[in-house]
Amino acid sequence: MSEIVAAIERIRETIGQAQINSPFAANTVKLVAVTKTVEVARINEAIGAGIEVVGENRVQEVLEKHGLIEGEVEWHLIGHLQTNKVKYIIDKVSLIHSLDRISLAAEINKRAQQAGLRMPVLVQVNVAKEDTKFGLMPEDVISFIKDMEQYPNLHVRGLMTIAPYVENAEEVRPVFKQLRELRDKVNSLNLPYVDMKFLSMGMTNDFEVAIEEGANIVRIGSAIFGKRAPK
Ligand SMILES: *Cc1c(COP(=O)(O)O)cnc(C)c1O
Repeated sequence: MSEIVAAIERIRETIGQAQINSPFAANTVKLVAVTKTVEVARINEAIGAGIEVVGENRVQEVLEKHGLIEGEVEWHLIGHLQTNKVKYIIDKVSLIHSLDRISLAAEINKRAQQAGLRMPVLVQVNVAKEDTKFGLMPEDVISFIKDMEQYPNLHVRGLMTIAPYVENAEEVRPVFKQLRELRDKVNSLNLPYVDMKFLSMGMTNDFEVAIEEGANIVRIGSAIFGKRAPK
């Protein structure tokens, strides 16, 4: 068995264990294989091992790899998105995880309308309020989501966060819990134009804890493909 196949198998086991361990865990957890810097042959190997969703954080990499991937796979844009690049990916990705400002919402809405589609998006929240991270402050999320009513070609499907990097993932459990509670709060508003299905949280270092706190999308790169070369 290849390393990639074995790694995916181990991850699926860990996901299953986390689902059993926690009352907050979702019944279904979507595994997004994060393929930034990973070459096409290795991505195809992961798809052969059952990966159904790939996540890229740069528009350029989506465009380079999009036509070269074998089999049916969904593409998610998980990284910071520049407004002037929305037009390139609007018909290539099925979920944008990184909506973090009104100007971006307006642009996604405009391009989705031109393409004749309704674009599913997650609102990125900077739960731990790190200077180095994108995302809305948690206290601004409710009013931001209410503002989404004016963008009918954009569909808010949930929330996303990137937890601070820590040695012991238990330390960031409160971050994941806070995102879940925020999701519940948005749900309780019953806004007709939102459908809060997804909580995208958890990466290589912390996905087990994230699932225990209710993640139903995890974004995993290095645990599948090995360590990336530093930038
Ligand atoms: C790179 C990246 C990941 C995956 O990180 P790993 O630690 O390699 O699992 C997840 N989410 C985002 C937004 C990323 O940029």
